[in-house]
Amino acid sequence: MKMKAALMYGPNDIRVEETDKPICPSDGLILKIMSVGLCGSDIRNLTTDSRKGNYPFIYGHEIVGYVDEVGKDETKYKVGDKLFLFPGTYCMECDECISGHSENCSNEEVAHLAGTGGFAQYIAVSGEKIRKGGIYIIPDDVSFDAASLGEPLTSVFACLENVKVEYPDTLVIIGAGPIGCFMAQLAKIRGAQKVIMIDINEKRLKMALEFGVDIIVDSSKEDPIEAVKKYTNNKGADKVISATPVNATQTQSIHMVRKGGLVVFFGGVPKGSMTELDCNLIHYNNIWIKGHFGASYSQSKRAFQLAISPSFPTEKFVTHVLPLDKINEGIQLTRTGEAIKVVLHPWD
Ligand SMILES: [Zn+2]
Ligand SMILES: [Zn+2]
Repeated sequence: MKMKAALMYGPNDIRVEETDKPICPSDGLILKIMSVGLCGSDIRNLTTDSRKGNYPFIYGHEIVGYVDEVGKDETKYKVGDKLFLFPGTYCMECDECISGHSENCSNEEVAHLAGTGGFAQYIAVSGEKIRKGGIYIIPDDVSFDAASLGEPLTSVFACLENVKVEYPDTLVIIGAGPIGCFMAQLAKIRGAQKVIMIDINEKRLKMALEFGVDIIVDSSKEDPIEAVKKYTNNKGADKVISATPVNATQTQSIHMVRKGGLVVFFGGVPKGSMTELDCNLIHYNNIWIKGHFGASYSQSKRAFQLAISPSFPTEKFVTHVLPLDKINEGIQLTRTGEAIKVVLHPWD
């Protein structure tokens, strides 16, 4: 059997083609993918030599769909169930998992179960992935598009929970992409009093105002450090999150935080690159710096529940729904800042 998929043949070389439909594992299932989000990390992977010449490859990890087929030994799910696949897979046995931080799972053997391959009409889910967890049922009244946003929301949810963004924080977010907009909206739900959004893209900044942002700063026109000082009575923000793939915003971030405040490096920067930091400023101002990546199972489940609840305006983030054939267009729309979140439909 054949299916349609977006295969990556090299940087910026993505072709939608017929390929073999995966075979159903005897203890697993086949998911018919109805919606798959286009993530910033997908775009980074699709536009660089992310697989070191190992092509073709199918990316896509924000996966939701119907169970299409179940193996003879699979008993948990049945054909027709609507499922959300959290791409992280953790062992729940190592010290990190037991401590409640399964995002730091040190068991490499289960990491290969992490889901990619979503830019296709079908994906196989192994029995081991089903047993380890991270698969959630989507209620009937929730759309696939909304449910697909559970994945990008997960990491944001975990970050704001881990660093306790709350009332009455003043929060600076650098990077008005979909992740930055999720952060702003969730920070407001958690009680942040002032959210300042910094970006170089005017279109993105204007859209960010729809998601709880109080103040926008266009750093292509205005010095962002001075701007943050101006809006915080010269004190600096309580917390600053760098959510861009750029080293320079990490360098700037420590100049925007108040004494004793917290800086989070959320966005990954180019592999092997180094960021310059004024370490005396960190020292004398008692600044905390924290990295963030991923989410625990518990956080992924609660983030998914938030994404499908009426408390979060999930559908507002989906600015473009495109057929999978238009994945290249989706990448462009996201890169230019025209789109907040692009969701692809493999069956349209
Ligand atoms: Zn994602
Ligand atoms: Zn583990």
